[in-house]
Amino acid sequence: MTPSNATGPRAAHALPSYLQADHLGPWGIFLQQVDRVTPYLGDLARWVETLKRPKRMLIVDVPILLDNGTVAHFEGYRVQHNTSRGPGKGGVRFHQDVTLSEVMALSAWMSIKNAAVNVPYGGAKGGIRVDPRQLSLGELERVTRRYTSEIGLIIGPTKDIPAPDVNTNEQVMAWMMDTYSMNVGETATGVVTGKPVDLGGSLGRRDATGRGVFTVGVEAARRIGLAVPGAAVAVQGLGNVGGVAARLFAEAGARVVAVQDHAGTVYREAGLDIPALLAHAAAHGSVAGFPGAEALASDAFWDVPCDILIPAALEQQITEANAGRLRARMVIEGANGPTTPLADDILRERGVLVLPDVIANAGGVTVSYFEWVQDFSSFFWSEEEINERLVKILKGALDTVWQVAEEHRVSLRTATFIVACHRILRARDLRGLYP
Ligand code: NAD
Repeated sequence: MTPSNATGPRAAHALPSYLQADHLGPWGIFLQQVDRVTPYLGDLARWVETLKRPKRMLIVDVPILLDNGTVAHFEGYRVQHNTSRGPGKGGVRFHQDVTLSEVMALSAWMSIKNAAVNVPYGGAKGGIRVDPRQLSLGELERVTRRYTSEIGLIIGPTKDIPAPDVNTNEQVMAWMMDTYSMNVGETATGVVTGKPVDLGGSLGRRDATGRGVFTVGVEAARRIGLAVPGAAVAVQGLGNVGGVAARLFAEAGARVVAVQDHAGTVYREAGLDIPALLAHAAAHGSVAGFPGAEALASDAFWDVPCDILIPAALEQQITEANAGRLRARMVIEGANGPTTPLADDILRERGVLVLPDVIANAGGVTVSYFEWVQDFSSFFWSEEEINERLVKILKGALDTVWQVAEEHRVSLRTATFIVACHRILRARDLRGLYP
């Protein structure tokens, strides 16, 4: 892996406007991340343009009948960033702020993540611009089914396999699986992962992403001589990812001192009672008002003294505005894209170790891969077997990128991109161009 200045084909054309736009947004961040690794790609750099252009993007209208008898329209997206290494794979997000740029970036990060842990997938992502909290259960089901039907042209067990992401869950996956199956005339369990266990889902999938965050966090802590028992941990987002990570760190003896969600921030120096906090959030919809904890202003979360900070909510939370204030030794990115490139540089200068999303939250897609394999073979594994294989893959991936980071004196994120881009572009190179 010798750095080179090759920048791509001779006549690289300017990127289409929709790919250039929004340079401060998530897609712009991805482009900057690719530019950073290009000098390390050697001859394969001639293919780097393929990473800067998603392979296929579908924008769909999702009209549904509301309970009040009127019709509402929502915008849906499915982006397949790259399929050189296998079918597209990536979650579906329901959020009022979802944009095409965001879904493009998330799909690209899935390409990198899947290659980094070496599962045989490309990268894809989907989303609907909707606030699911404003919908009844029936409306949510209708939105899900119509969206699935609209993107049905390009998804499938060997084409592109959606999974849960922000505000989507096992029930949503069950509706997606059923809709796709009805349309193709056969039960196709392998079209989505993250399904209920009673419907071809995998044991261990629900906790997999948070367990992955915990696994790589503990392994990295060992490497930098940070003892997890007694360590202070701050977590942003107490959902599928942050909730499980908080629980596992607390069970390992860490003090989870601060938790922030969309509606509140709670702090307790001696450590929050995580099972009680999870129960409170489930009952009240937020951590806000948790008894026995101090309520902090939202921005004060970034000043909390801690050893480990886990952003596990949304993108672009750690920016140049707050990166200089963080008091953590290590950041474990549970969320996708929580740290901007400028913030990355500030943290690196300050000696804060960042475990990048593309490794740190890869536990979810790794167990999704196990689920897909189990569905194809109709043979299901025990939870112990799944967790063992998960830990082995994540530790192996971390070990590889750690070595590359040391070899090139780069951050773990750049090292992960180097490893992943090599794998993707090597596949591209071997396949060649059609026609
Ligand atoms: P979730 O919907 O289960 O939970 C999201 C959490 O973030 C909630 O606690 C919510 O209150 C909080 N939150 C939302 N907006 C916030 C804000 N502005 N400030 C602070 N907190 C806020 O979602 P999730 O599945 O846990 O996903 C969280 C992140 O992890 C996302 O970036 C997602 O892409 C990423 N991720 C998820 C998975 C997975 O398997 N679920 C896998 C890989 C990556």
